[in-house]
Amino acid sequence: MSKEKNGLFTIFGGTGDLAKRKLYPSLYRLYKKGYLKEKFAVIGTARREWTDDFYREVVVESIQNITESHEHAIEFASHFYYQSHNVTDIEHYDTLKKLSEKLDKQYQLEGNRLFYLAMSPNFFGVISQNLKDRDLITTTGFNRLIIEKPFGQDFESALVLNNQIRASFEENQIYRIDHYLGKEMVQNISAIRFGNYMIESMWNSRYIDNIQITLGESLGVEERGGYYDTSGALRDMLQNHILQIISLLAMEPPTRLKDKEIRTEKIKALKAVRLLEPDEVSDYMIRGQYGPSHNDISKNLNGYREEMNVALDSQTETFVAGKIMIDNFRWTGVPFYFRTGKRLTKKGTQIDIEFKNVPLNLFDNNDEPLPANVLTIYIQPTEGFSLELNTKKIGLGLATETLQLEHKYSAETTANSLEAYEKLILDCLNGDSTNFTHWDEVATSWKFVDIIRNQWDKEKVDFPNYASGSMGPIDSEQLLIKDGFKWHWCPNKK
Ligand code: NAD
Repeated sequence: MSKEKNGLFTIFGGTGDLAKRKLYPSLYRLYKKGYLKEKFAVIGTARREWTDDFYREVVVESIQNITESHEHAIEFASHFYYQSHNVTDIEHYDTLKKLSEKLDKQYQLEGNRLFYLAMSPNFFGVISQNLKDRDLITTTGFNRLIIEKPFGQDFESALVLNNQIRASFEENQIYRIDHYLGKEMVQNISAIRFGNYMIESMWNSRYIDNIQITLGESLGVEERGGYYDTSGALRDMLQNHILQIISLLAMEPPTRLKDKEIRTEKIKALKAVRLLEPDEVSDYMIRGQYGPSHNDISKNLNGYREEMNVALDSQTETFVAGKIMIDNFRWTGVPFYFRTGKRLTKKGTQIDIEFKNVPLNLFDNNDEPLPANVLTIYIQPTEGFSLELNTKKIGLGLATETLQLEHKYSAETTANSLEAYEKLILDCLNGDSTNFTHWDEVATSWKFVDIIRNQWDKEKVDFPNYASGSMGPIDSEQLLIKDGFKWHWCPNKK
């Protein structure tokens, strides 16, 4: 069976950063691999007045580092058409409709349409309403709406947004992107658990002591200060990526690895996440903001408050760490710790699963307890796993040492694997919504996050409280220490 897909992509925000950095390169990779061949077309739309020719040049430039040849890039870009207009203008949609119908015939697209909203969520409602009212939704093929984060600022605004979109599209036509769900090793969480009985049978509170999730960035906010200062790490990272990863780690085995079955289990896991009482927030959640740093390694790094478009007295957090408890049979008593922040020591996403210690240490370790076994899942930039096991040290006596069994995928293998956006676009073409977030997940996550946000907004904090290049505020270490644990991954201590 041919793997070729057909469809018309209409990209709202076609001149924007996301389109150029992620969407065009991802579409090109799918073209190179034969998922897209002759039967596809792309309409880019935004306010600027561009011609098709200019648009195609922009597309070619955006893929210049990954092209097979210039001719191949030109051939790919010949499928791209540009139409300038303001999305709030109704006439826009009539022109779009004509162009869509023309391309539908020209490329034999059978009425299959993907509408990619790569622009501010403020416009999601008006775009989806006009797509329906102005008849851009076909009756012959599939119609799918892909939308970007952020999905609302809190539960209330997310609900309003969702109602606006649902007035035109059914839930099963809506693909809410969380690009972490497109990452190979995040998808691998299910394979590690459900493909290995040894692991799945230990995947519970009897054997696991705690789980630690780190999503670290070494960069600051760069030129995104304006957006970031209204969002902060809590909304930007916890509501979506971190709670999604937790739901995959915590869910019960689904009956099949298909979208509906996985989603049912993820939602159940999210609903079991314990909601904090307002007066518990400070015990469970830590926030931080990076300050400047001046040393030989980091040279002169700005503090967050010195960044472009950031208020001088900004209370926005660039770091958040926390402890999440899941109240169900499997996880009662097991803390899920997470931390995420900007300007940390190292860029990296990893999950450390710390198993319980042996009940009695029989070895000669100078009265030190045996280190716990730790299973690590490396998500980015390295992809792979490691497992730390205690073994006897070679030689006399009964001392032990900890060995690390490690598998990291080679740069060549990961270069050939599908990139997150590429995989998600392909999933959407296939109508597979496994790796997208359902409204129930979004709603449940916001309800958890809103409690923290509301509490934090009431209390002024003394920022900045961590130096650029560190692993966040000292309170993030204390969060684990008071439970008798410590962060397993300490790139700042090597
Ligand atoms: P951007 O500001 O670079 O692009 C916005 C696009 O919208 C531009 O093409 C602009 O011309 C167009 N636009 C704005 N107002 C318009 C109007 N009234 N009518 C028609 N077109 C209009 O933004 P971006 O960085 O590409 O982000 C787009 C969306 O993706 C946002 O929701 C953002 O939060 C999300 N996102 C972006 C990234 C990223 O890496 N850039 C990552 C994750 C999520």
